[in-house]
Amino acid sequence: MDLTWSDGEEAFRADARAWLAEHLATWREQVGGPLSGDTREGFAQHLVWERMLFDHRWAVVSWPDEYGGRGASLWQWLLFEEEYYRAGGPPRVTQNGIFLLAPSIFEFGNQAQRDGILPRMAAGDDLWCQGWSEPDAGSDLAAITSRAVRDDERGGWVLNGQKTWTTRGAFCTHLFGLFRTDPGSERHRGLSYLLVPLDTPGVTVRGFGRLDGDEGFAEVFFDDAFLADVAVPGGVVLGEVGKGWSVAMATTSSERGLTLRSPGRFTATADRLIDLYRSRTESPDPPPAAVRDRVIDGWMKAEAYSLQTLQTVTATVDGRPAGAASSLVKLWWSELDVELHETALDLLGDEAELDGPWTRGWQFSLSGPIYAGTNEIQRNIAAERLLGLPRK
Ligand SMILES: Cc1cc2nc3c(=O)[nH]c(=O)nc-3n(C[C@H](O)[C@H](O)[C@H](O)COP(=O)(O)OP(=O)(O)OC[C@H]3O[C@@H](n4cnc5c(N)ncnc54)[C@H](O)[C@@H]3O)c2cc1C
Repeated sequence: MDLTWSDGEEAFRADARAWLAEHLATWREQVGGPLSGDTREGFAQHLVWERMLFDHRWAVVSWPDEYGGRGASLWQWLLFEEEYYRAGGPPRVTQNGIFLLAPSIFEFGNQAQRDGILPRMAAGDDLWCQGWSEPDAGSDLAAITSRAVRDDERGGWVLNGQKTWTTRGAFCTHLFGLFRTDPGSERHRGLSYLLVPLDTPGVTVRGFGRLDGDEGFAEVFFDDAFLADVAVPGGVVLGEVGKGWSVAMATTSSERGLTLRSPGRFTATADRLIDLYRSRTESPDPPPAAVRDRVIDGWMKAEAYSLQTLQTVTATVDGRPAGAASSLVKLWWSELDVELHETALDLLGDEAELDGPWTRGWQFSLSGPIYAGTNEIQRNIAAERLLGLPRK
């Protein structure tokens, strides 16, 4: 196996590195902060950054040119991600669109959906949030009760129900969600994957604060909201009516396995952890050897994730989707993120109690084992679907 990058790939990396160094500095100067992207003001600042990325065709590098990308390979996308996090690029506030919904639109969407939805998503003109969880359906997603009833006369669907934990929902313009379209159906049958503009009459979005005070979540209510078939280009149903579960499972596979949390994010954190460790070795109270071992362990695990992802990309390029194996990937990155940040806090000692990037990063890392499907559920999937163990 040859793990070296080609000259073309190295040139692509160098371009990305140079562009990021210059433009991240410009953006920071322009917005003068920036604030957290989970606040209204911070979100607007991050959109300025998204538009800079888009204008220079760095927003969605692996998408075709006509949708705002540069037709880069998945390998080049990995290199871009590495450079992005190494340069200290901010969280992508467009992530639920570009990393979760978009792969499913490429796979299941019709041509009009691709042409009409993807360029606006890449430009940050339409901002998508994920409407799956409900007050009584989180881990057990097939228990959702939000429903869509067909209205042929008016040409659309009447939506009722409630979604919750909708990341950045209060700042978004559109929602992709699962709704029960066959009233007699149960569990994962009879669901459809709908694309809903949030300004549809009858839809109410109510943002709410997290423990850290940021308004990063929303509840979305549907009260006889009429969703016209033509509300989005190509129609509001992604995939077939009643077959939403399989589209949703493809989305979760992207979310857990490749696109949402690429290795670059963790290798950059591991490198920063090493810098932090080095900065502490000169102090009068240097860290004990056991902490050094944890720093090295974290770095090795981030490298291991990087190497493992090369396998995932090879399989994806060969047309072999990750499927249930993406649950193992999700377990790895979410637990690694907690470990890296906990080690940093131990190195910081009392300083960890002050608000700073490591402390904020640690707080967010604690949600990793919950979002994208809890780690308990990922272990169940691995046990049942990969190891073939009995369900009880
Ligand atoms: C930061 C963050 C962002 C999120 N963003 C979104 C979003 O944008 N859109 C969206 O739709 N949702 C989002 N969610 C919601 C997330 O998908 C749910 O929180 C998650 O699926 C768990 O559901 P729940 O909170 O209802 O917990 P529950 O399902 O009630 O689970 C509670 C506990 O019981 C455990 N448990 C449940 N069932 C089993 C079982 N069968 N076996 C073993 N243990 C079990 C769980 O692992 C968990 O520890 C987000 C969550 C977080 C933390």
